[in-house]
Amino acid sequence: MERTVTKLAEGVSLIKGIDFECCIWLVEGREKALLVDTGLGVGDLRGEVEALTDKPVIVANTHGHGDHSGGNYAFDRVYMHPAALPDMKAALEMTEMFASPEELAAIRRRMEERPAEYRFLREGDVIDLGGRRLEIYEIPGHTPGDIALYDREAGLLFSGDSMVKSMDVLLVVPQTVSVEAYARSIRKLAALEGAAGFCSGHDQRIMPRSFLLDCLACAEEILEDRAEMQTVDPRLPGIESCLRAVHGDAAILCLPEKLR
Ligand SMILES: [Zn+2]
Repeated sequence: MERTVTKLAEGVSLIKGIDFECCIWLVEGREKALLVDTGLGVGDLRGEVEALTDKPVIVANTHGHGDHSGGNYAFDRVYMHPAALPDMKAALEMTEMFASPEELAAIRRRMEERPAEYRFLREGDVIDLGGRRLEIYEIPGHTPGDIALYDREAGLLFSGDSMVKSMDVLLVVPQTVSVEAYARSIRKLAALEGAAGFCSGHDQRIMPRSFLLDCLACAEEILEDRAEMQTVDPRLPGIESCLRAVHGDAAILCLPEKLR
């Protein structure tokens, strides 16, 4: 798979493959580089990353979904929230839809021969890249194992699927916690006043703080019964219909049984 690389801020590059694959972010410090998410696992991500930086690469997953963690197998050590590990174990199911049979066999072989070692991240942990520090925030909502990584100096959040403009915020996947948990998490990020922009799991640009605030307002309106909800087909396996609420630029898909 051909991926494109776009530099979007000082030391921050977006690596993007086919539409369905998440945005993979390469964040460089003075001594180390951090790869935020690893995509579907197709192609030679590790080779592509090593061509972009000569620094040792640390890998972290924003959550365990297969379009974000499918390429973990190519790296020696991966950081994630402990609650993300069960989703990650099912990651190959998503890769199966996009990899050729030969590629899939090679991926399986590599996973068995030399599985990545997992290390856990919790709220308050810091990843220090040398001159660039990323603080970890637990933001359960989309899944229980969602985290955001905050570069306080640059005013940038890396926040996975918790706030996505190019598709609706999905609080309808099997792992979703609740809209209430989601609102609490986004409120926590909104309190980081220096967070001027964020890098999401599926938007190919740095998103403005106003979009974060729209996501929060949308979730709060749902919980306070003030949102105009439409019934829609989420086009996801196993779910025929869900509710959709909009506030400003943000839209949230949710289920009545997963509000609280
Ligand atoms: Zn996801």
